[in-house]
Amino acid sequence: MKRIIHWFRRDLRLHDNTALHEASRRGAELVPVFILEEALSAGVDVGAARLAFLLKSVEALRLELRRAGYNLVVRKGKSDELIPALCRETGASAVFCNKRYEPYTVRRDERIAQKLSTMGVEFHRLKDSVIWENREILTQSGTPYTVFTPYSKAWKSRAVPAPLPSLPPETQSSTVYQSDEVPLDPWIFGHRLNHPVTAGGEVEALKLWQSFLAGPIHHYEEQRNFPSINGTSKLSPHLRCGNIGIRRMVIDILKARTASNPMQAKNCDVFLSELIWREFYTQILSNFPHVMRHNFRREYDALAWSDNEEHFQAWCVGQTGYPIVDAAMRCLNQTGWMHNRLRMIVAMFLTKDLLLHWQRGERYFMQKLTDGDMAANNGGWQWSSGTGTDAAPYFRIFNPTTQGQKFDPQGKFIGQWVPELVSLDEKMIHLPWENPLLASRLKYTQPIVLHEKQRPKCLAMYAAIKVSKSS
Ligand SMILES: Cc1cc2nc3c(=O)[nH]c(=O)nc-3n(C[C@H](O)[C@H](O)[C@H](O)COP(=O)(O)OP(=O)(O)OC[C@H]3O[C@@H](n4cnc5c(N)ncnc54)[C@H](O)[C@@H]3O)c2cc1C
Repeated sequence: MKRIIHWFRRDLRLHDNTALHEASRRGAELVPVFILEEALSAGVDVGAARLAFLLKSVEALRLELRRAGYNLVVRKGKSDELIPALCRETGASAVFCNKRYEPYTVRRDERIAQKLSTMGVEFHRLKDSVIWENREILTQSGTPYTVFTPYSKAWKSRAVPAPLPSLPPETQSSTVYQSDEVPLDPWIFGHRLNHPVTAGGEVEALKLWQSFLAGPIHHYEEQRNFPSINGTSKLSPHLRCGNIGIRRMVIDILKARTASNPMQAKNCDVFLSELIWREFYTQILSNFPHVMRHNFRREYDALAWSDNEEHFQAWCVGQTGYPIVDAAMRCLNQTGWMHNRLRMIVAMFLTKDLLLHWQRGERYFMQKLTDGDMAANNGGWQWSSGTGTDAAPYFRIFNPTTQGQKFDPQGKFIGQWVPELVSLDEKMIHLPWENPLLASRLKYTQPIVLHEKQRPKCLAMYAAIKVSKSS
């Protein structure tokens, strides 16, 4: 019996899945495989929320595959050893998977390709998680875009491919191979999770997407910046695991756009732009892999960051004395989630008020976020610190208090996550230190730095680089 392996990675779904679709058309028995990488137990950037969501999604995939007549083979270990071993065990003549773009996964896939080639097994890596990948959208001079607006314009000028059909049900009884259980324990590989896990899997992702399309997308532009409003899709963990196909999403948005009035069409456009940001950062990571360890703009490698450990710890636990920053960090620690506006606020605060290296925040986010994604996270941090592609210029510094007043005007979000401040009115909740008598009665920390004093320090720190570069 001819067999083919489909290796599931960041594509945990049966619909609109490029490599799965191609593998299923080969007329061979399909062996679906998921490898629980051993490296997940050691990585400092691995977080329990992300891992738990991934495993829930794998479990959901296993059930969906079973309904369709397939048995998912789960193995724990190193994929560069296990994939060749599974080919020997099953006699598979080809392995299909969808491409990943993080530099370490590209290197690992190369090792696997070499091993499989010596065994005479085909190895197919197909584009799936993005509409356009790193070398597909280039400037007229053939170089990658490093500025978002022209990239986005070029992206939008192309026709988007249609979503692919779902995996057809297995008609013969599929072979059963030994499979490990999917661990769904709160202690995952030694990573402890102290909050409930968001529901994972393709069915959940599609439900979330349909409910977003039915309502919030029509108010996306006006509501997406307010953390106390449920105005964004919350699909990022699903997109990260590939529980939903990007072609499906983009085609749905384009359809909704055509059927809408001009106002609604504008909202669809703004949402589409966010999906394009995701692809922009994926191609940046792929074309400029140095961003993993360095500033995109290498001259900023010489920035003289602070090493104040107490400040970093206060930021992590939400005890900086700035209400919106503390609410955001506590929300992250207790749920694995943070709203985009808040990510920008806390990232600017860490880098431009506390003057701490963005890489410390980047790593903390990877440890805590359910949607932690190397490309989007690195892009977001380098944008906020002013060291990246198309970044906020270094002299754009958010004032954490006015950001709170603007985007949480009634202090609802702050009150939810910082109970010490819940009794304050909508003015005082943003600046509890302004009334010393009141402040002394609250069990809330005093600001650990003064924004007005840190701002000039920050400007001087960055200006020193500009001066030394030009001298
Ligand atoms: C410092 C910082 C760190 C970030 N870290 C991550 C991360 O680890 N993982 C992650 O997925 N996003 C990250 N983002 C981007 C953004 O905050 C999240 O994608 C968004 O908050 C997810 O919520 P949502 O799905 O409701 O987004 P929606 O507003 O519904 O947007 C839809 C989708 O578009 C994509 N998207 C939206 N904004 C961005 C953006 N700025 N950059 C790239 N893609 C975007 C996401 O896939 C998102 O799910 C980060 C942003 C910043 C400023």
